[in-house]
Amino acid sequence: MLPVVAIVGRPNVGKSTLFNRLVGERWAIVDDRPGITRDRLYREIEWLNRRLVVVDTGGIEPYPADEIGKNVRAQAELAIDEADVVLFVVDGQTGPLADDVDVAEKLRRSGKPIVLAVNKIDHPKHLERRYDFYALGLGEPYGISAAHGTGIGELMDAVLAALPPAPEGAPREEEGLRIAIVGRPNVGKSSLLNALAGEERAIVSPVPGTTRDAVDTVVERAGERFVLVDTAGIRRRGRIYERAEKYSVLRAELAMRRADVVFVVLDATVGVVEQDKHIAGAAERAGRGLLLVVNKWDLVDKDDKTYDRFVKTVREELDFVAYAPVEIVSARTGQRVGRLFDLARQVAENHALRLPTSRLNDVLQEAIALTPPPSRGGAPLRIKYATQVGTKPPTIALFVNDPERLHFSYARYLENRFREAFPLTGTPLRFVIKPSD
Ligand code: GDP
Ligand code: GDP
Repeated sequence: MLPVVAIVGRPNVGKSTLFNRLVGERWAIVDDRPGITRDRLYREIEWLNRRLVVVDTGGIEPYPADEIGKNVRAQAELAIDEADVVLFVVDGQTGPLADDVDVAEKLRRSGKPIVLAVNKIDHPKHLERRYDFYALGLGEPYGISAAHGTGIGELMDAVLAALPPAPEGAPREEEGLRIAIVGRPNVGKSSLLNALAGEERAIVSPVPGTTRDAVDTVVERAGERFVLVDTAGIRRRGRIYERAEKYSVLRAELAMRRADVVFVVLDATVGVVEQDKHIAGAAERAGRGLLLVVNKWDLVDKDDKTYDRFVKTVREELDFVAYAPVEIVSARTGQRVGRLFDLARQVAENHALRLPTSRLNDVLQEAIALTPPPSRGGAPLRIKYATQVGTKPPTIALFVNDPERLHFSYARYLENRFREAFPLTGTPLRFVIKPSD
């Protein structure tokens, strides 16, 4: 669980430039897993041997001019909820503006560590411009030029100094299985959280070693511990940022990073909408165990076919996460809520599955014999063997004569065969294609 640094500030102050500078080749940890999209608002970086997550809260679509102040306040809220350190960027060429003052006030009251970057100080003789920003009451303003890469070292030193101490490498597993509840506003995340916590004895405990506001809820059920993560964010629902699509996706992504299993909550009275798809897509990319929870079942008029019809619709609409179980619940009445714990445990086991190499290759050879890879001229594709190279999610290396020739659709075919042969319900399955002669 890496510390999160959120970059906040008005449009055009240079947040994205700074973000790109921080994640630039030298520091970026390249994530080359398949299925990972590049247009992410957060990245993992390493600075002086400390790994952290940088979030560009400004990487949201442009807002109309009269919405700018609102957008910046939304970023600030998000940063306050999610970040360990806030990197507040202001523009040294314009000096402090009203929006800067608003946001500074909000950030200051949050008690979060804040590092103030005065950007666009392109020349040493302009360094004195940063003094105007002492008035924001956020401590020392660091003069930087994101465009030219000057002052970044000192700035990042200050960020590192403000981070919570690195965890002592305590095994997280001991705490229990970690579940993130994510979804659009109003689908019933916090109601579900309360239903899950209320069922059994709930212990609310602050997370040690972090300044994050998140308060995880630990639930004990039949002697087993479950941690409902990121509940501070859920409890603070109704925040401005939730209404913006990308913010809620980003928030879901951040919550998922801290979980083993993700519940994507859907609203039975609404069905599956575009934003649900984006959130489910983020869960797929995050590579966590996944459960689709359709909530508010008590509000649906039903006959004996309604349940199956709902499951079918959800599967069709979210066919890119066909591996995820669908459960239909009511947070209000508690119907089937208890089952979610059992499903979560099952999914977590599958997520951590180790596939015996010999069995894996039996299944592979059978699959190839049944349907050989299509040959489109040239030397035929030959898949030599398979071996598992990672868990959480299970990751299988396929050794082939010509990686270029392994078509996506054939990989999908193999995935389906593996899923029939092994208990992989609820977990993504990744392939790494390796050349072999
Ligand atoms: P954001 O909206 O806060 O993400 O800002 P951007 O990173 O998109 O930058 C806004 C504009 O400021 C762009 O035209 C950048 O080229 C420019 N800019 C960013 N950093 C600097 C800098 O250090 N010096 C100068 N002079 N311009 C910069
Ligand atoms: P969140 O924004 O996703 O955390 O959603 P909330 O938990 O705040 O729920 C949004 C609204 O839906 C509230 O008015 C809840 O009382 C209501 N709600 C949540 N779950 C259920 C449910 O299972 N049945 C019914 N009838 N209402 C629900």
